[in-house]
Amino acid sequence: MDQLQLEEKVAEYNKLLKEYGHAYYVLDQPVVSDAIYDQMLHELIAIEEQHPDLIYPDSPTQRVGGEILKGFQKIEHRYPMLSLGNAFNEADLQAFDDRIRNMIGDKFSYVCELKIDGLAISLIYENGLFKTGATRGDGTTGEDITENLKTVHSIPLRLAEPISIEARGECYMPKKSFTDLNKARAERGEELFANPRNAAAGSLRQLDPKIAASRNLATFIYAVGGSGESYGLSSHSEALAYMDKLGFQTNHERQNCKTIKEVWAYIERWTEERPNLSYEIDGIVIKVDRYDQQQELGSTVKAPRWSIAYKFPAEEVVTKVLDVDLTV
Ligand code: NAD
Repeated sequence: MDQLQLEEKVAEYNKLLKEYGHAYYVLDQPVVSDAIYDQMLHELIAIEEQHPDLIYPDSPTQRVGGEILKGFQKIEHRYPMLSLGNAFNEADLQAFDDRIRNMIGDKFSYVCELKIDGLAISLIYENGLFKTGATRGDGTTGEDITENLKTVHSIPLRLAEPISIEARGECYMPKKSFTDLNKARAERGEELFANPRNAAAGSLRQLDPKIAASRNLATFIYAVGGSGESYGLSSHSEALAYMDKLGFQTNHERQNCKTIKEVWAYIERWTEERPNLSYEIDGIVIKVDRYDQQQELGSTVKAPRWSIAYKFPAEEVVTKVLDVDLTV
């Protein structure tokens, strides 16, 4: 492929990924499958790595999430809400593990968690009381969806301790609620939601909280916002146990793993057991457990280096997404 063709391809991918991202993040109505989106993004990352001169400042590889929906107040996040790097196979995970071992040596462990397919949320508590809740938005600023989140039963309005803290997690729609919702919508002749993730996002980004209240949403909290150390915590697993104690719902399928082999066994187990869960997952999130080691590894503008999301293979394998050849 010559330079001009490559430039055209990069421009085309930028344009399409922006359109797909807008439909997904802003309108909650994806126009292509996640597999197609992920494959194209992956291709673009590969090209940009080889040709940094072709990185657009607003490339979808350089930013987190979408735009803020009009009609909502904005909430500036105290700490950026990042995305996660992706792994699609064992080799990607091995490369992730090698990078970490190169940086911090061999004395560390991972926490593996289910990757809940919902919407990232930030919950702010002051003196133990729920104050505000926001979407991730563009990672820096989110939408104020406090009133909608107050209708979600698994979000405590008062914590077990009168502390000020930020909880981060995923708000999702259980499979059964999703099926019931789409059935009712079909009966009323209304447009159906593409999947539980879009239904959850569509429900939380409604101006009328009665709609969110009727949608049976649920949450799993997976992090303390900012520095967990200020609460006397030294690791991610301690933080999750603390969140449980405070009254949040965390996901108890998590597992500590010492090696990437153990991580892979966890992935294989959940690839099989995934259909038996009452909620959708789209992968497994792997995190270095200790906070001091997370800090040593740091983050890029888009994602932490101490964590990665393994994505389950798509049900339908898509090998070609455009008329253009995908190989660089
Ligand atoms: P991501 O979904 O790959 O990973 C980051 C997110 O994972 C976090 O923000 C968090 O919300 C979530 N998460 C779930 N469980 C978690 C856990 N246990 N610990 C930590 N985080 C957890 O990245 P993204 O930036 O949110 O979005 C990319 C996703 O959106 C991809 O799956 C992509 O396919 C999809 N997408 C699809 C389209 C489309 O058109 N179909 C368009 C844009 C994006």
